[in-house]
Amino acid sequence: MIPYGRQHIDDADVQAVLDVLRSDFLTQGPAVPRFEAAVAQATGGAHVVAFNSATSALHAACIALGLGPGDWLWTTPNTFVASANCGLYCGARVDFVDIDPRTYCMDAGALERKLEATPSVRRPKIVVPVHFGGCPCDMVEIRGLAERFGFRTIEDASHAIGASYRGRPIGDCSWSDVCVFSYHPVKIVTTGEGGTASTRDPEIAWRMQTLRTHGITREPERMTRPSPGAWYYEQLELGFNYRMTDIHAALGASQVAKVERFVQRRTDLAARYDELLDSLPVRRPCVGADRTSAWHLYVVRLAGRDRVFERMRAAGIGVNVHYIPVHLQPHYRALGFREGDFPEAERYAQEALSLPLFFDLTESEQDQIATALAEALG
Ligand SMILES: *Cc1c(COP(=O)(O)O)cnc(C)c1O
Repeated sequence: MIPYGRQHIDDADVQAVLDVLRSDFLTQGPAVPRFEAAVAQATGGAHVVAFNSATSALHAACIALGLGPGDWLWTTPNTFVASANCGLYCGARVDFVDIDPRTYCMDAGALERKLEATPSVRRPKIVVPVHFGGCPCDMVEIRGLAERFGFRTIEDASHAIGASYRGRPIGDCSWSDVCVFSYHPVKIVTTGEGGTASTRDPEIAWRMQTLRTHGITREPERMTRPSPGAWYYEQLELGFNYRMTDIHAALGASQVAKVERFVQRRTDLAARYDELLDSLPVRRPCVGADRTSAWHLYVVRLAGRDRVFERMRAAGIGVNVHYIPVHLQPHYRALGFREGDFPEAERYAQEALSLPLFFDLTESEQDQIATALAEALG
């Protein structure tokens, strides 16, 4: 079976992990700040905080931006459940904004209409746009709405390390408060499990750092009383153990050094899919002229998706569906969401098929996938 995604691990990655295993620190050592610096360098982030997953990073970012009971978080239904769950973790309520039928990202026009139609007490404190498939959202429009309606923005850039928007790298937070990357092995750069949160605001960065380690600080100037000695620490608020280990971070630093090469290969493969599928009755992905995708996913839209999915799987092609709309998950239905709430996302989810796309996918495998797709459609 050709998988839909797969990590690329080279000898340097293996060596980086071995070096940590033989070093003094498996966790809370120097590899984590080194990884954070490497991510900052690769993506233009001012302050980067590593976590044991992107889910943890989203949760800490929500707390750091003040989300709590009585607040609202809005995101897109076309995402992994984590983009919405981070709001529920904080005791906030979650709502969704329908997708743009061309990019499958949150529709900035729909966001504006929904904000205008929502009484101010029910407007969101946080909006989480997701750069779906690696293609950046309309961040300038979303930033304009954030200023007009007073919400904070967390980019869920789990798919988008190495992407750019209006000439700036995703991760420099030009139009957001926090930007989160995931390093799960199906994503572009991997640490095994892991995530980071980037921000320009040193206070938000400090708060996220504290939250990832139980809410504890060892900085005397942050303490509520004079520090009696170097052994002393204070827990200032209720945090978590969301730390990344040095083992994961060393792998990440070695991986993120290759992000440009990873994204270039994915871009070439995506362009090749565009050519191979040109004559088939499928809709190919669309990336705006003012942005570049990191090509986490190559999604085609087609009629009769369920039948094509089965035929492709039977032919040994690990196609997938991204995503079942979050509001239709049983946990969210129980909160009151229904079929028909977000029709563009629901229509899209009936027609979407993710084709295999990863660094080591070969041209001949790609030819095989295109042929299988043509047959499955026939
Ligand atoms: C993978 C993913 C996450 C969660 O990432 P983890 O690192 O597995 O916690 C969140 N949002 C989106 C859009 C994702 O694709």
